[in-house]
Amino acid sequence: MAHAVKHSTEVAPQIHLIQVPIPYPFKYVNCYLLKGEGAVLVDCALDTPEARPGLEAALAEHGLSFADLDQVVLTHHHPDHYGLCGLIEAYGPKVGMLDLEKERGHIFWTQDQRMMREGMALFARHGVTGEVLQGLEEEMRATRQRVHPAQNPQTFHDGETLQLAGMSFRVIWTPGHADGHAMFLRESDGVLLAGDQILERISPNIGIWAYSFPNPLALYLESLEKTARLGAKVAFTGHYGPIQDIPGRCRELAQHHQERLAHLRGLMGGEAKTAWALSLELFPGNLNLAQRRFAWSETLAHLEYLVAEGSAQRLEGQPVRYTL
Ligand SMILES: [Zn+2]
Repeated sequence: MAHAVKHSTEVAPQIHLIQVPIPYPFKYVNCYLLKGEGAVLVDCALDTPEARPGLEAALAEHGLSFADLDQVVLTHHHPDHYGLCGLIEAYGPKVGMLDLEKERGHIFWTQDQRMMREGMALFARHGVTGEVLQGLEEEMRATRQRVHPAQNPQTFHDGETLQLAGMSFRVIWTPGHADGHAMFLRESDGVLLAGDQILERISPNIGIWAYSFPNPLALYLESLEKTARLGAKVAFTGHYGPIQDIPGRCRELAQHHQERLAHLRGLMGGEAKTAWALSLELFPGNLNLAQRRFAWSETLAHLEYLVAEGSAQRLEGQPVRYTL
């Protein structure tokens, strides 16, 4: 008999992990099927030739197709978590996200021409030029092809208790990685569906984009404290493995950002530099264009944090430069 690959694993009662392959360095996005009274999918990968069949095969193990889901609930609007939601919605399930994420994240996909223009203007304002700028535009257009925006997203709010497949989950707003990033806490047993708020092996990208809050790093550091205080027993995250010591991981991530801020200040002693130039120093090495984009946005977020706390200056101009 052929050996069947199992596409999903029950990681907690009625919570099934589905690891969907994605074309990013972390290789998989973790989606979660909640299966109790009904079926709800938390996060849904993006539309690649591997991801969609992978997700469908996992659902089929449970005798489900997209049409059988009650709803898809999203932690945030990034393509690896959101991309297939409009396609699944077309089969009938509702798509739910935090009210703030609909206003501030979902629009990245529905107002994509404006977002592209503003995004390119921000890259240019912060020192990206020529071929790199053109490459970033092509890369963003390619990603857009893999995303199907929800047509009629439903919203929930911070602190609301949702009934998902017959289970109660409290919504916890944790801005930083995305303005409207949400986690879902099953209070009955302390299981936290944490999205990309905390990750096991890497620090989630905290970046500034044309459409994001002006100081996402300050918000993220607050969100880490909020996450640490929840008393959750285990976090099932958007990438990599589960996290048992949630307060410990929150402390490590906060510490990591303090070290990065100190490192960045160390690079800023001499003449004023652009965020792009500083990102090449802060993240040296051979990064592809997508990774360079993240490195730039992460650097910019750290620079704006320093400016907001008064320990660095932003020199307006085209391009904008930063100095101590
Ligand atoms: Zn992610």
